[in-house]
Amino acid sequence: MNKKDIFIIHGTNYKEMTLQLLEAAELAAAIGSTKKHIGLKPNLICAKDPSLGATTHGELTAGTIEYLQKHGFSHITVMESSWVGERTSRSFHAFGYDRICDAYGIPFVDLQKDSYHTYDAKGMQINVCDAAMNVDFMINLPVLKGHCQTTITCALKNNKGVIPNSEKRRFHTLGLHKPIAHLNTVARNDFILVDNICGDLDFEEGGNPVTMNRILGFWDPVLCDAYVCDSMGHSVDEVPYITMAERLGVGCADTSKANVILLNQDTFTDSRPRFTRRVEALAGYTAPKDACSACYGSLIYALDRLRQAGKLKKNASPVSIGQGWKNCPGKIGIGNCTSCCSDFLKGCPPKAVDILRFLEEN
Ligand code: SF4
Repeated sequence: MNKKDIFIIHGTNYKEMTLQLLEAAELAAAIGSTKKHIGLKPNLICAKDPSLGATTHGELTAGTIEYLQKHGFSHITVMESSWVGERTSRSFHAFGYDRICDAYGIPFVDLQKDSYHTYDAKGMQINVCDAAMNVDFMINLPVLKGHCQTTITCALKNNKGVIPNSEKRRFHTLGLHKPIAHLNTVARNDFILVDNICGDLDFEEGGNPVTMNRILGFWDPVLCDAYVCDSMGHSVDEVPYITMAERLGVGCADTSKANVILLNQDTFTDSRPRFTRRVEALAGYTAPKDACSACYGSLIYALDRLRQAGKLKKNASPVSIGQGWKNCPGKIGIGNCTSCCSDFLKGCPPKAVDILRFLEEN
């Protein structure tokens, strides 16, 4: 196990992708004894279909349970606490998590109803639910998505689901960043399996999903969230809890030192993603021809950063992207497939942060 590893797999068979990624990461060997109690913490923030970009696709949870059971682990618990204002029991029953737990014979703990204790989280006293603290190994299953207050949310902030509702309210009064960083010094985050299938553009409750069709794996939650910033075209400095967590010793935010393990290539799928009006407006600045999902999604995130900065020009030439641009001349292109464009950005796929820089310069 190398804390700097980042596993990336593309596709649309999400359960099979989960199994392949966990095998590649050799998760079972990292956990060790099959007697250990494993916790799974998806993001069920509210009772919304994962296709809307807020909640973890059930296939990732099912694939993880299947992988663990295949490797002899039997003491597994799925746990979550939805956000304040939503009953976890509603989220659990809304889109099949109850059926997944039944099918694999796995218990689900509603952390909104759990007991809790207070821990010294490197200088902050924080209440954490007992079920989450009682596991020997926690697999975090967050969604890569935007957040209206913290800019992005993924591994570190998903742990807010292991504290009682009263503590969540207190976190908001404290401005979120500092308590999130401190929480992660005590709440386990041993492996992170990121749902990067269609996370939301900028809102934790979903509504504007950006299709990427990827699953990512990390051992380090700080590296995970720093990589999410790169993937959405943000700087780590825009998300203070990441560098705060790094300073507290939770992990390393330097993605330039990461060891990226690409398990397959991104592919073009015939089925065009369903765009909402906001994403469609950004897509209007592009000229896609057979673009792979993660490539196109990265461009959408970069265009949204330009929009936020007031730099999207109405009459700008559309940005070429996709395998259909191979050997075709054009003006501005994103990705290796557009190498015949007058100006193009290398990468397959390039990250949103690099696309943003390139488009700003051009
Ligand atoms: S550069 Fe081409 S092949 Fe590579 S991810 Fe983008 S569209 Fe796909």
